[in-house]
Amino acid sequence: MKYTLLLFFVFLTSFCPPDTSVYICGSGGSKKYHFKEHCRGLSSCRQEVVKTTLKQAQNLGLTICGWED
Ligand SMILES: [Zn+2]
Repeated sequence: MKYTLLLFFVFLTSFCPPDTSVYICGSGGSKKYHFKEHCRGLSSCRQEVVKTTLKQAQNLGLTICGWED
């Protein structure tokens, strides 16, 4: 049981490394980032979808989109 929990923890921490690619709407003004390029939250984006890294998005103070977790 403990081993299973450990595996789960390793999975969670390795699932989102800082250099993970994320997508944001426009080069500024957006407050959310997205893991999926075709996320529902990005479908309403009227600007260019910019690909960046999770680390940079978090440095900009962006938070994960409400459609994802
Ligand atoms: Zn999203």
